[in-house]
Amino acid sequence: MAIAEKVIEKRLRGERLNLEDGILLFEADLMLLGAAAKEIRKRQFPEDQVTFVIDRNIYYTNVCVADCSFCAFYRRTGHDESYTLSREEIFKKIQALADIGGTQVLIQGGLNPELRLDYYLELIRGIHEAFPQMHIHSFSPPEIDIVAKLERMTYHQVLGKMKEAGLNSLPGGGAEMLIDRVRNIISPKKISADNWLKVCRAAHEVGLKTTASMVFGHVETIEERIIHLLKLRDLQDETGGIRAFIPWSMSTKGTPGLEYLPLASGEDYLRTLAVSRLMLDNIPSIQSGWVTEGHKLAQVALEFGANDMGGTLMEELVIEPTGVKYRTTEHDLIRLIHRAGYRAAQRNTNYEIIRQIS
Ligand code: SF4
Repeated sequence: MAIAEKVIEKRLRGERLNLEDGILLFEADLMLLGAAAKEIRKRQFPEDQVTFVIDRNIYYTNVCVADCSFCAFYRRTGHDESYTLSREEIFKKIQALADIGGTQVLIQGGLNPELRLDYYLELIRGIHEAFPQMHIHSFSPPEIDIVAKLERMTYHQVLGKMKEAGLNSLPGGGAEMLIDRVRNIISPKKISADNWLKVCRAAHEVGLKTTASMVFGHVETIEERIIHLLKLRDLQDETGGIRAFIPWSMSTKGTPGLEYLPLASGEDYLRTLAVSRLMLDNIPSIQSGWVTEGHKLAQVALEFGANDMGGTLMEELVIEPTGVKYRTTEHDLIRLIHRAGYRAAQRNTNYEIIRQIS
């Protein structure tokens, strides 16, 4: 038996995999790897059910001081195309989500130094009062980090106040690759790997759950991908606060700093997703990513360990400027899930089932 297959057997026996095991998995036969990830997924979700959430992204500001080399979304302060949405504009978008039965609002944006803690607290409070049914899953660790710096407060203090105002959970964006060597190349001004983990830890400690993500397919090594997964697994061992993991392949088109890099292949995406399912034995939900990979590959990902198709989003402004433009509706997601041979179910942010769709 090849060494990579032995690693797969080890995981199927219920043993935990280490760094060396994870690296070896990248040499395994793709179909064997997918079958093992599917088997592990089935042990956790025996009903052969795939979930999705009806949600909406709202990009409240594109003003950002981080200058990440892969980002085609942000503008510097004072740029003609820079914007910060008014409270009315944000509320109008949330109303449109409420009108279609949406349950989750995902507000995120650039690192805008003009927005202080009071801005966020007022916004969260306002949404909570006007839309009490809406789960506010908003503001990723880099946004929490800049607010904490501007206010000279700890992450616990900022997150505690946001929770008090009505924030329900945090999206795990801005993780990219939790390796400072990589961050120094693609996003040197953004939160460090350690601080990203510290924000999530603080969120979990004040009672806010998070998701976690990984953006791969750029300047990182395979070993660094596995180290990233192990850092998330360690945090999850410690706090249990990560609900879901979302791997994305980076689109480098339209991003002057990284356009020289080749795009990650579909094979690389499926392999990375399957390896994530095998390595992350303590994170229940693994999401397939139609936003970056498209409908068809996201559907195939259900055979490689994914159990959830994420949300409908309604708008996508960060990925689209890179030339990757996929849209989806609730109907699309249900059709993709059914055609892949699974039962579809709408969930809320807490992964509770709201309705089964046969
Ligand atoms: S990825 Fe986020 S932090 Fe980086 S430049 Fe874009 S908006 Fe700013």
